[in-house]
Formats: sequence, C-alpha cells, structure tokens
Amino acid sequence: MRYASRIKKIPPYLFAEIDRAIAAKRSEGVDVISLGVGDPDIPTPANIVEKIKEAVDDSLNHRYPSYNGMLSFRTAAAGWYKRRFGVSFDPESEVIALIGSKEGIAHIPLAFIDSGDVALVPDPAYPVYKIGTVLADGVPVEMPLLEENGFKPDLGSIDKKTAQKAKLLFLNYPNNPTSATAGLDFFKEVVDFAQDNDVVICHDAPYTEVVFGGYKSKSFMEVRNAKEVGVEFHSLSKTYNMTGWRIGFVVGNSEVIAGLGKIKENIDSGAFQAVQYAGIEALEGPQDAVRENMKVFEQRRDLMVEGFQDLGWDVSKPKATFYLWFKIPASYTSSMDFASDLLDNAGVVLTPGVGFGRYGEGYVRCSLTQSMERLKEALERIKAAGIN
Ligand SMILES: *Cc1c(COP(=O)(O)O)cnc(C)c1O
Repeated sequence: MRYASRIKKIPPYLFAEIDRAIAAKRSEGVDVISLGVGDPDIPTPANIVEKIKEAVDDSLNHRYPSYNGMLSFRTAAAGWYKRRFGVSFDPESEVIALIGSKEGIAHIPLAFIDSGDVALVPDPAYPVYKIGTVLADGVPVEMPLLEENGFKPDLGSIDKKTAQKAKLLFLNYPNNPTSATAGLDFFKEVVDFAQDNDVVICHDAPYTEVVFGGYKSKSFMEVRNAKEVGVEFHSLSKTYNMTGWRIGFVVGNSEVIAGLGKIKENIDSGAFQAVQYAGIEALEGPQDAVRENMKVFEQRRDLMVEGFQDLGWDVSKPKATFYLWFKIPASYTSSMDFASDLLDNAGVVLTPGVGFGRYGEGYVRCSLTQSMERLKEALERIKAAGIN
C-alpha cells in the first residue's frame, strides 16, 4: 500500500507527539494538568442544550439537511452579524453553514488553489491554513507574525511576485496562538493588498466574543470593500462552548461562498439540522452566558498572568482569546525543551510555540481552559519545580 504524496507533504504533527508524552506521563500515574488544548471546559449554555433535545425528537430533522444550511440558520447568522458588527449579508447568497469553521477553512483551498498556486498564511498559526493549502496541492508561503509588529503580518514586505501568485490570504484576529487583536486600520490595509494583488481574503474569526475589560473586537467585514475581496469564518465553538457540536458559518463575498459551496456539496451533506436549531438558539437567544464565561476566563487570565510574572516570566494580559502567548525564560533556547521540562518536573503542559510554525519558536502558549483550582495547582507545581 502506498500513500499519496500529499500525505507525505503534511508536516509531522507536533501535537500528536505531545499527546504521546502526556499519555506516557499519565500511565506512570502523574496527574498531568494540560494547559495545552484550546477547548473550553465550561458546558454549553442550558438553553442551547434544551433546544437540541427538542429538535432531536422531531423526525423531520432526521433526514439529510440542505447543503448550505437551513435558511433559518443562515438568517440567524446574518442577523447576528448585523447586530454585532452592523454589516448586512444576504442569507441566500452570502452565508453558508459549516460543520465547524475548521471544515470550511480546510475546504476553501480546493475552490481557489490549483496545483502550485500560492496561499499566504500567517506563522505562527492555527495549522489548518497551511495544511488545507497543501492538501489542495498548493504552496503555503508564510507571513511571519512578529512581536514588534503586534503579531500582524507586514504586507508591504511580501515580494511582488509572490503576492501576484497568491490566490488566498489567511488571517485570524483575535489571534490564536498569539492572542493579538487587529483594528480597522489593519483590515483596511488588507483590503488594499487584496485589491492590488487580486487575492481572496479568508479571515478566521472564532474569538471575536472571547474578550476582556470591555474590549470589542472588529470584524474584517466592517471595512469598506471587504465584501468585494473576501469572507469571514465564524464559529459557535468558542463563543458558546460548543466545540463538540460542529457548527460554524462563513459570510462575505457571494462568489467566494459559491465556490466553497460547490466543493462542500460534493464532499459533505451539511450540518445536522438539530444542531442548526441549537445554533439559532445560541445566536438569537439570551447572551448572558457569554458574558459570564468571559468573566470566568478573565479571572483565570489575571491569576495566570500574575502568577507567571511572579516567576519572572515575560507575560502580559491579552485583550482577547483564552490563550497567553509569551517568551520562554531566557535560560531556554527551545520551546520544546521548555515544554518538556515543565511536563517532566511539574506535570504541566504548555504548548511549545514551534508547534504553530517556525516563527513561534521561542514562545509558549498557555490555554486558560481549566478551573481556577487546577490553574492554581499548576502555578504551585511550576514554582515548586523551580523552573524559571
Ligand atoms: C478553534 C479554532 C477554529 C475552529 O473552530 P471550529 O470548532 O472548527 O468551528 C478555527 N480557527 C481557530 C484559530 C481556532 O482556534
């Protein structure tokens, strides 16, 4: 048996290696505290859970859903965008439902990338932009996200030839893993770049509602002409603690959406309708649980940032996302070594920055998706292990 060459082009999955190291520790009896994965530990709000129970009982929902999502779900998504960002979308042509936003992000290169075409991808980043491109036989070209640029790509430094060969450009703010945010000035630059180089912008925005201290995220779609050049992926996973439900959507340019829809029609058969009904409830129902959640994450953020600062680590409080992204202590040169030492000596998992791309080297990511008790224990163990 021989795998296709595209399988070999997928870079080794560092996170699988980390999972193996964690499993080995656990089998030795170590009570590992994982601050590795970005998966909310708080349950989905009760009104949403109640809605899916009702919807599951209705046999009309047991059949194949429509490819693009129910019109009522797409209308709810458009309504949410209008209320939240003041931007209007036609639910018929400018919105489709996704089986989680990862699904749409992974599939969109199939609609725009021919063999050898370039996609511009941030680095460090969520790995799917790069791997989706590779699976479409495209060539990902990294845009470094450097701390001195506020973890935004320097679009002016992309050479003209590469820019003109690019078909897609991926971005993600509020950002995973760096927790950086972006404002409308940056998004305006992105629109200009897209128009100058005829490239489709794919803005991945699952963290717009994971914000602290009154910060309000901007949508890429708020900028003039954004709809001419791109789309925005949105997810219910992080806002409503629904990672396991697999529901998201994409809004924006109708031709881009139609291209992605064409791919999806031939690959999947849409999101379970009961999940879409629950999604409508999430988007249109009471939003108190979202505010409560953010208070929880904010408390955890403060605990961990202050705790790490006490250890002498170079950490500051992010305005958004449930991640802390910071430089490894000066006594280390490799984020993998630092993460291994933490696991071996404190039983605590942080994600080495290099797992998100080579420009992530020198950093680690700490996810705030554990209870205050576990977070406090993690800090105590790190202190006791004398890692600094
Ligand atoms: C969590 C996450 C997603 C995917 O969310 P879905 O559960 O697939 O909707 C997409 N992008 C980034 C940056 C994420 O962190």
